[in-house]
Amino acid sequence: MKRGVFRKPKVVVFDMDGTLINSFLDFKGLKKKMGFSEGASVLEAIDEVVDAQKKQRLCQQLDEFEMEGARKAVLYKGAVEFLNFCDEEGLGRALLTRNSQKVTQLVLKKFHLNFGLVLHRENLQEPKPHPMGLEIVCEFFKIHKNDIIFIGDHLHDLLAGTSAGVRTFLFDNGSNNLKDWGGKADFVFEDYSSLKALLEDSFKETE
Ligand SMILES: [Mg+2]
Repeated sequence: MKRGVFRKPKVVVFDMDGTLINSFLDFKGLKKKMGFSEGASVLEAIDEVVDAQKKQRLCQQLDEFEMEGARKAVLYKGAVEFLNFCDEEGLGRALLTRNSQKVTQLVLKKFHLNFGLVLHRENLQEPKPHPMGLEIVCEFFKIHKNDIIFIGDHLHDLLAGTSAGVRTFLFDNGSNNLKDWGGKADFVFEDYSSLKALLEDSFKETE
């Protein structure tokens, strides 16, 4: 593990689906229904569709899939307590998701969550795995990339985090494929309460 991994950040950035909420999104099944390969990324694959009508149909299908996910979604255990811990420690909070504005707002409202900055695919030109979202977080909060911890559950998150050069923590939510991805993360954790305890100790040491 790199030194300083648990050093106190100024801002914690969270992915949404699979990280804060379990929205039971079966992207594998969706891609099959859409006729995309298993390894494809849905947003990028839809982007490449030339036929306008087909593209519109796929966008609608994705929209319905994500809305359904938001309706079913539940918070992961300890996530709210961890968000409160960030507040108690005076850390800023941002949300960085590939989901749509509509679904993101629905989720935030449903769980009474708020963030200093919310980036979704409508207000961010380049979604993850591009590092743009994390670069915007730095500009918005006027902080250096070293002052960020980014928490996600997917390869997109790890790639965005590592190419932005920020500390990137992977949440093992029980359904992501850590065998292939875990090594790319600065830290892998299984539950928010142990992450909170670990950071609490580390912040005390460095105070
Ligand atoms: Mg995710």
